[in-house]
Amino acid sequence: MSGKPFRPPFRAGALQDPRLPEPDFPAQKQQMPGLATRMDPLPDHGEQSYRGSGRMAGKRCLVTGGDSGIGAAAAIAFAREGADVAINYLPEEQEDADAIIAVIEAEGRKAVAIPGDIRSEDFCKTLVSRAVEELGGLDVLVNNAGRQQYCETLEELTTEDFDATMKTNIYAPFWITRAAVPHMGEGGSIIITSSTQAFSPAAHLFDYAQSKAANVAFAQSLAKQLAPRGIRVNAVCPGPYWTALQISGGQPTDKAAQHGANQPLGRPGQPVEIAPIYVLLASDEASYITGEYFGSVGGGGL
Ligand code: NAD
Ligand code: MG
Repeated sequence: MSGKPFRPPFRAGALQDPRLPEPDFPAQKQQMPGLATRMDPLPDHGEQSYRGSGRMAGKRCLVTGGDSGIGAAAAIAFAREGADVAINYLPEEQEDADAIIAVIEAEGRKAVAIPGDIRSEDFCKTLVSRAVEELGGLDVLVNNAGRQQYCETLEELTTEDFDATMKTNIYAPFWITRAAVPHMGEGGSIIITSSTQAFSPAAHLFDYAQSKAANVAFAQSLAKQLAPRGIRVNAVCPGPYWTALQISGGQPTDKAAQHGANQPLGRPGQPVEIAPIYVLLASDEASYITGEYFGSVGGGGL
């Protein structure tokens, strides 16, 4: 690890000023997909800061993109809430994945690491069958992995790039969810990570923004289809969060260092700060919440 941790652990009973700590993000760039363990400052996935209270005891969860960022924060929170967790990620992210697996195991929960590229339909099927086999079933599916590569003009956006974005952000959730649903019973929860880009698309995120709008429709349509089977489906729409996605081609390097600065809170969110939404949607407490989308944008709204 090269960076310094971003924020001190939450202190029970202490009031937390949401503007703090003020951001100090040196410009930095990595190759896609980027490693959280090489970021400065390190993103806060909740390793020290997330406190659980048994809200997901015994649940079996699969989180794509669970090695870093928002997916890692959800995976850690699920484990602290008493769940067993399988994570998927790209093979080149093993170093990040090892760190998250260690945190889950330190909770005494089962952690399953399933590396592989979800742009392959065959791998998506293997991913679900391995998760079901090793967890002994599946109760919660989080389609969180995503591809975001900025491109300033339509003419520069290649068919290969457009296709890779759609494969990762639209096809993979379809393939994974279609394989998973037969294994999920009443009380199951499916969550998809969309984005504020679904509602306020940026000029330089033409392909990504479209895919994230599709993610909202995924949740709203599938919720109607699966309600009669007792399975809930919701979308989470983050605003600017401090993750590897942003500094590995998601934004131009100067913009990535300023990520979130124009929000009313004046800073990006840390992944742990969105984990409670995933916990709520995954837990039985959200039994009347389905077909919805939830924002966490830093004040700008969806
Ligand atoms: P992240 O880079 O930490 O996580 C994204 C993960 O996607 C990677 O860790 C990688 O494991 C996975 N992934 C990408 N392509 C893959 C592939 N082909 N096969 C398997 N795995 C693949 O960044 P993050 O910001 O935590 O991203 C998580 C989700 O949040 C994404 O869907 C992203 O679109 C969404 N999101 C992020 C922000 C933000 O500001 N960080 C804002 C809105 C939405
Ligand atoms: Mg990663």
